[in-house]
Amino acid sequence: MPFVSLNPTSERVEAEFPALDPGGLALLLDQAAAGARNWRARSIEDRAAVLRAVATALRGQGEALATLMAREMGKPMGEGRAEIEKCAWTCEHFAQAAPGLLNPRSAPTDAVESFVVPEPLGTVLAVMPWNFPFWQFFRFAAPALLAGNTAFLKHASNVPQCALAIEALFRVAGAPEGVVINAFAEVEAIERIVAHPAIRAVTLTGSERAGRSIGALAGRELKKVVLELGGSDPFIVLDDADLLATARAAVRARLVNGGQSCIAAKRFIVVDRPSPSGGAFADRFVAAMSEEMARVRVGDPLDAATQMGPLARSDLRDTLHRQVEESVRAGARLVLGGHPLDRPGWFYAPTLLDHCTETTTAAAEETFGPVAAILRAADEETALRLANATPYGLGASIWTSDIRRARPWIDALQVGSVFVNGMVKSDARLPFGGVKLSGHGRELGREGFYEFVNWKTVWIGASS
Ligand code: NAP
Repeated sequence: MPFVSLNPTSERVEAEFPALDPGGLALLLDQAAAGARNWRARSIEDRAAVLRAVATALRGQGEALATLMAREMGKPMGEGRAEIEKCAWTCEHFAQAAPGLLNPRSAPTDAVESFVVPEPLGTVLAVMPWNFPFWQFFRFAAPALLAGNTAFLKHASNVPQCALAIEALFRVAGAPEGVVINAFAEVEAIERIVAHPAIRAVTLTGSERAGRSIGALAGRELKKVVLELGGSDPFIVLDDADLLATARAAVRARLVNGGQSCIAAKRFIVVDRPSPSGGAFADRFVAAMSEEMARVRVGDPLDAATQMGPLARSDLRDTLHRQVEESVRAGARLVLGGHPLDRPGWFYAPTLLDHCTETTTAAAEETFGPVAAILRAADEETALRLANATPYGLGASIWTSDIRRARPWIDALQVGSVFVNGMVKSDARLPFGGVKLSGHGRELGREGFYEFVNWKTVWIGASS
C-alpha cells in the first residue's frame, strides 16, 4: 500500500509515495547501522551543535511546516506554529542539558574507582502517530539523539510529507548521513525491522492495539521498548472551582488538536452540590461549558480565524460518531453537537454529552475527537472512584480554589501525570508517560533522556 497524503479538508490526494520493498528496506537498515557508528563517535558538543541547527531550521521553516500539517492532517495554523516552536525549543533544551546528563556518575564502592557511565544503545526504531506529526517525533528524538542514538522513523502512513520534512530538517542542519532515516515501511514490515540487528531498541507512540503488537515483537527479540499509548484523562472539577474559568479551561483541554490528543481531557467529572443561588453546581458548569464550546470556530485549518479543523481521517470520524450514538442510546444526554458537519471534509461538531456513567461508551472508551463526556459525582470519594475507573492511566487534572483539597488526589490518582489547576501538557523539563494501558517508559525530563542508554558500570581495583 502506498503512503498517501490525503487532505482532510478537501478530501483530495495531495501526494503519494510507494511503500518500501524488502530490498529498499534492507538498504536503509544497513545505512542505519553505519550512521549509528558515526554518530556515536561524535563528541557531545558536535551532536548539540547539530540539534541547535535543527532548531534553527525548524524556526526558519515554521510557516511551511505548519501549512504542511494543516494540509496533511487538518491542524489549524496557530496550533501548527506552536508545535514547531515547541520542537525547536526542546532541541535547544536538551542540547544545553545533555553534556551534564552524560557525565559519568561516581558510585563509590570497595574499588579504587567505580562509576557508571550512560552510553547510547544505537539505532532506535520510532513508530510514530499523525496527531502531532513533528512533536511526537522530536519528543523522543531530541533527548535520544543527544544521548548518541540514531532514529529509524516509521511514521504514520497518512503523514508522509511530514515524515520527509523531518528527515530533510536534519540534512539541512548538517547532520551526518543516517542520524534520522525515514522509512516508508508498511506495518507488515515492522516485524522484520524490529528483528534486524541494526535496531537496538523500539519506541511507539500510538494506540493500544499497536502497542501490544510492537511490545510483543520487541519482547521476542529482547529489545528495550517504550510505549506511549492512549488515554482517557479525567478532568476533575471540585465544587469550589472557579466555574467560568474552569469551564473555559475544560473546553480548551478537550478541543486541543480537534480533540485528537492522547492527553486531551476526555472525561469531565464534576463534584456536584446544590447552589444557594439556585440550580446545582454541575448544571451551571455544563451550561458554561456548552456555551464556550458552541463559540469555537470550526473551519479550514489554513484560515487564520479557525480554532478547530477537521478530523484527520474519515474512519476516525466514523468511530467517533459511533461512540456518540452508542452513548446517547445508553442514556447520555446530548447537550451540544453529536453529528458530522454537513460540508466536505471530515468535520465533526464539538459535542457535549451529560449524565454519562463509567459504562457509557464515551467514558469507557478513548474518544479521539471533539466529544466531552460529563460524569456527575455526589461527593469526592465517588469522583475519585470514577477518575480511576478506566483501563488508561496517562494524565489527570484537578480543579479547585483550595490547593490543599487537591493534595490527597495526587497520591490517589492512577496516572503518569497529575496537574492541579492546569491542563495536562508535555514539557521538555518534566517526564511524560503513563501507567496501565497508557504504556510504559518515559519521554522528556531526565527520566526520558535516560530511556535509551546503557548504564555501563565500571569497577577499577588497585594495580597488581
Ligand atoms: P495507531 O493506529 O496505533 O498508529 C500509530 C503508529 O503505529 C502509526 O505509525 C501506525 O502505522 C503504526 N501501527 C499501526 N498498527 C500497528 C501495528 N499493529 N503494529 C505496529 N505499528 C502499528 O494510532 P493512531 O490511531 O494513528 O493514533 C491514535 C492513538 O495514539 C490514540 O490511542 C492516542 O491516544 C495514541 N497516542 C498516544 C500518545 C502518547 O504520548 N501516549 C500520543 C499520541 C497518540 P500506520 O499509520 O501505517 O497504520
